[in-house]
Amino acid sequence: MSISDKLIEWYKINQRDLPWRHTSNPYYIWLSEVILQQTRIEQGLAYYKRFIQKFPTLKELADSTEEEILKLWQGLGYYTRARNLSLTAKNIVFNLEGVFPDSYSELKKLKGIGDYTAAAIASFAFSRPHAVIDGNVIRVVSRLFAIRESVDTTSGKNEIKRLATSILNYEKPGEHNQAMMELGALVCLPKSPLCSDCPVVSYCVAFKENRQHEFPVKLKKVKIRVRYFNYFFISDGRRFIVVKRSDNDVWRNLYEFPMIESNSLFSYRTVLDNHSVRKMFKFVSPKLADTRINKLHVLTHQKIYARLFWFIIKEEDMDNAAKSGFLITDTLTFQTYPVHRLMELFINDIGMNDTAV
Ligand code: SF4
Repeated sequence: MSISDKLIEWYKINQRDLPWRHTSNPYYIWLSEVILQQTRIEQGLAYYKRFIQKFPTLKELADSTEEEILKLWQGLGYYTRARNLSLTAKNIVFNLEGVFPDSYSELKKLKGIGDYTAAAIASFAFSRPHAVIDGNVIRVVSRLFAIRESVDTTSGKNEIKRLATSILNYEKPGEHNQAMMELGALVCLPKSPLCSDCPVVSYCVAFKENRQHEFPVKLKKVKIRVRYFNYFFISDGRRFIVVKRSDNDVWRNLYEFPMIESNSLFSYRTVLDNHSVRKMFKFVSPKLADTRINKLHVLTHQKIYARLFWFIIKEEDMDNAAKSGFLITDTLTFQTYPVHRLMELFINDIGMNDTAV
């Protein structure tokens, strides 16, 4: 029995029952793979169901606006994935006659589809022999073969791919790949691998040498960028100001309160005298409310210290803000806008979900 046969046999008995495993529809498989990147299965499952319900076909996804997709995606993070979902759906429906490409190389030409997703769609939907390499597979392969090279270098990645392909089942690449990923998720765990339950323990070099915890080898440390965001909730008691993020930064095309980034957070005591604040809101004469909301928001490569300043302005000042090009909204309308997680936290703290502002 080959290593792959053992894996597949184990997978048939132990796999978790997940909806995208009961289909070979490339649209559903693509959707599930995009949603599950950097996301826990439990959280991803709820989003997957919501997307399938709202957009049962690729055509319906392509016919929707990016804003609708971002709204449905809200809370999942890594919003580039949602924007690419929109672009690629439109591309397939309007430029490729609605037919999902069935080869790895053609799939990789699509926006947001890299090595991992292309191999997943090609093998799960079209039974093409490509090894899927995700974090779980990297851990399993690096332990099975006790790979000494760091998996974050190009040669280390190539080595993982070569060895993952060397054990691939060319007859059943989809099942093989699912089994590898499931083994990493359920048995070959990062901290405490359950080697006594492992179907391929007899092949595992790291187990034989009792060195499971040494793999995968990683050299590079992720650099974290620290940022300071000063947010301004500017309200006349009925309406408030929002902006749509448009620059090439985190949360592009999502809505938020006006914000000024700085080298450190502005102080509550001096914020009204701050040069940048006065310049940005020169059309109003605000009063600072006595509400203090501070947040630390951590993204994969960024740590964001955020502070919310609540400015109370007069109704005529709000009209001036509208004339200056700011977007004015109210609580009810704002609920239809896609926002990022930090905004959601601010909204909860302000109490906008319960009461009209
Ligand atoms: Fe992972 Fe242990 Fe199985 Fe090796 S034997 S692949 S370390 S679970």
